Amino acid sequence: MSPTLDAFVRSWPSEPWLVASLLLSAAIYVRGWRSLHRRDPERWSLWRLASFCGGLFAIFLALASPLEPFASLWLQIHMVQHLLLMMVAPPLLWLGWPLLPTMLGLPKPIRSVWVAPLLRSRRLRNWFTRLTHPLVAWPIYVGVTWFWHAPRFYDLALSSTRWHFIEHLLFAAAALLFWYPVVRPYPSRPNWSPWLLLPYLLLADVQNTVLAAWLTFSSRVIYPHYANAPRIAGVAAIDDQAAAGVIMWVPGSIAFLLPLFLIAVRLLRGQSRTGAGSPRRTTVSHPLPFESTGLLPILSQPSRAPSSHRFDLLHTPLIGALLRWRYFRPLLQYTVGVLAVAVILDGLLGPQLSPLNLAGVLPWIHWRGVLILGLLIAGNLFCMACPFTLPRGIARRFWQPTRSWPRVLRNKWLAVVLVALFLWSYEAFALWDSPWLTAWIALAYFGAALLVDSIFAGASFCKYVCPIGQFNFMQSLISPLEVTVRDANVCTSCKTKECIRGSATLPGCEMGLYQPRKAGNFDCTFCLDCVQVCPHENVGILATTPGGAIWSDRLRSGIGRWSARPDVAALAIVLVCGAFANAAGMIAPVLLWQDQLRERFVGMPPLAVTTAFYACALIALPALVLLPLTVVSRHWGIISATNSQVAARFAMTLVPLGFGVWLAHYSFHFLASWDTIIPATQRFASDLGVDWLGPPAWICACCRPAADWIIRFELLAMGAGLLLTLYAVLRVSESFATSPRRVIAAAVPWCAAAIILYASGVWIMLQPMEMRGTLPDESAAIAQQASR
Ligand code: SF4
Ligand code: SF4
Repeated sequence: MSPTLDAFVRSWPSEPWLVASLLLSAAIYVRGWRSLHRRDPERWSLWRLASFCGGLFAIFLALASPLEPFASLWLQIHMVQHLLLMMVAPPLLWLGWPLLPTMLGLPKPIRSVWVAPLLRSRRLRNWFTRLTHPLVAWPIYVGVTWFWHAPRFYDLALSSTRWHFIEHLLFAAAALLFWYPVVRPYPSRPNWSPWLLLPYLLLADVQNTVLAAWLTFSSRVIYPHYANAPRIAGVAAIDDQAAAGVIMWVPGSIAFLLPLFLIAVRLLRGQSRTGAGSPRRTTVSHPLPFESTGLLPILSQPSRAPSSHRFDLLHTPLIGALLRWRYFRPLLQYTVGVLAVAVILDGLLGPQLSPLNLAGVLPWIHWRGVLILGLLIAGNLFCMACPFTLPRGIARRFWQPTRSWPRVLRNKWLAVVLVALFLWSYEAFALWDSPWLTAWIALAYFGAALLVDSIFAGASFCKYVCPIGQFNFMQSLISPLEVTVRDANVCTSCKTKECIRGSATLPGCEMGLYQPRKAGNFDCTFCLDCVQVCPHENVGILATTPGGAIWSDRLRSGIGRWSARPDVAALAIVLVCGAFANAAGMIAPVLLWQDQLRERFVGMPPLAVTTAFYACALIALPALVLLPLTVVSRHWGIISATNSQVAARFAMTLVPLGFGVWLAHYSFHFLASWDTIIPATQRFASDLGVDWLGPPAWICACCRPAADWIIRFELLAMGAGLLLTLYAVLRVSESFATSPRRVIAAAVPWCAAAIILYASGVWIMLQPMEMRGTLPDESAAIAQQASR
């Protein structure tokens, strides 16, 4: 053991009064809880007791463990202490619903003579109600946090034990006020809308992120105390400060975003007792996200709200009318088709320097960024506007294929291979850097779609072949909208079933999705044929829980159950691992490592290095990790399902994390380099003889440092992906295991794997990244001069 660690584990401060207070509080609570548990074991479950005792233990760790003496030497330890006091202990204490157990646990004379009159005081209750209103608790919490993080006051707290005590007291008090409206411990009766909690938690996370970023990215030591403190284990004060910022940032964000997510899911599903979205003042006697008495109280959710109560995009005034217009999709497709033709022409005939060429910037910077943001905001918008199926539509006016797609290929295995090949070839042949190859890929796409769909009926190319389609189908499981029926009862009485069979003039779903049994967006191209053809106007684009389709294993039309689809699970794994490999392929340490590999094995071609990298990332590593994860999960959770079923279900839960990484990566390029399209378009237009756009502004194509907020957005995207994955793991685990203990046990290996993946994603995003598709500064200046 290192001397530092040894000193740390031996440094237990003597805090008898604190330990005695905590033990006394626990004893009083346990006494009251036991009496309540005997009367109503479901409401006063073991889980409440564990929460309250967990909160007390967090206080003990913060103030009476080695964290306390080391806090004045290491800022990161001080930060852990503050996190325990402000983000762990208070919500846990409130989750124990402490009022009634504490009252009942007190000796009767104290309860009736001292405490009961105090609690009956109207003035006191009014004050408490005011202080715990979100509009009051939020500024108090944020004010106290920022006040004590100002360098002058932070150093003051470190210079005197008394001030340090006051600082911790204020932190704990402000945090108790802050978390009270979030948890709403029984028997609280809030008189404000639960929707207020969404901006409440989101803004709390934003301010936490700003403060954390200040610590993380500051180039000087902010707190003079730590600049002068003896340095332990060779950690420089500035590195210690950055680590403290990351601790505040990542676990801090999880503390705010996890309840935000749970509350949002509950509200969006219309399950709030207050009537979600209702502006009237309400009375609630149970905490919102924690009121269920299901197997896992936090996770159990009542069934889906009736479709008629859900948001329907087709019912919005302007967008709804546009989407319902029969020619809207062809209009979109022809517009994107014109852009595709421009990319092909410029790629084949234009300059072969990527930032100067439409084929170098439009597909790799703009299309990918818009595609992923579209999936995040709405759904599979690219397939809706896909130009590759246009030639097929024209050809089918003259020729109707009748052959069916071969039975042996009616799965995703071919797509898995093609997606892996696409990811590998992107890196192996530097597609982003070759307008010529990019143009040929677009041409090959048009040709392949035409060929496949001229031979086989339906949308075989989209469903079984297209790698872009598979990417969209998988990622759209996270989208907030889905094409689905508005009222299931209408379908029950519908005799004609045009949504799948089609009508005399319009096709039914060519992807083979029968609306009443369709669930989620997988395999849905958002073509809206079903919307057009349904004679009862019963198909809409409705709000759905992002990721909800992942943890449900219901029988889906055209797909079956996730547990019986190892091919879909393999596709999910390739796309998740591909997200990490694709981002890692651009960062300095990986590029350096590839160079070192080439130097070590002299004569090893770059293609072999890239192939080895992708073979490891997409095949070897997942194959090595998935089996042990599945076996351990089955064993710990005592799950009777087969290995294949368990692996298939849990593999799908990693999709949100993969989505977060794709979102972080693609949006980074798009947000940092969106204006590269300007000079490339000006140049293309000028080559065509159109000069009114002016000379190319090459300065827009040059490589600039990305704005600070983009990295924050990336970390937020990946953090949200991790949270959704952890939630999905627990939901899937809950469907397999038969007791809360087994649910947790089965989930642990997958949660650990997700957290490790997330940490590697954070590391990747924090590395210097190659700005592909942009010019170095000097080239931009030369090109600008040449164009004048
Ligand atoms: S045609 Fe319309 S009403 Fe009939 S089954 Fe399909 S979606 Fe339901
Ligand atoms: S017709 Fe099929 S693919 Fe098209 S939107 Fe409807 S369900 Fe999706």
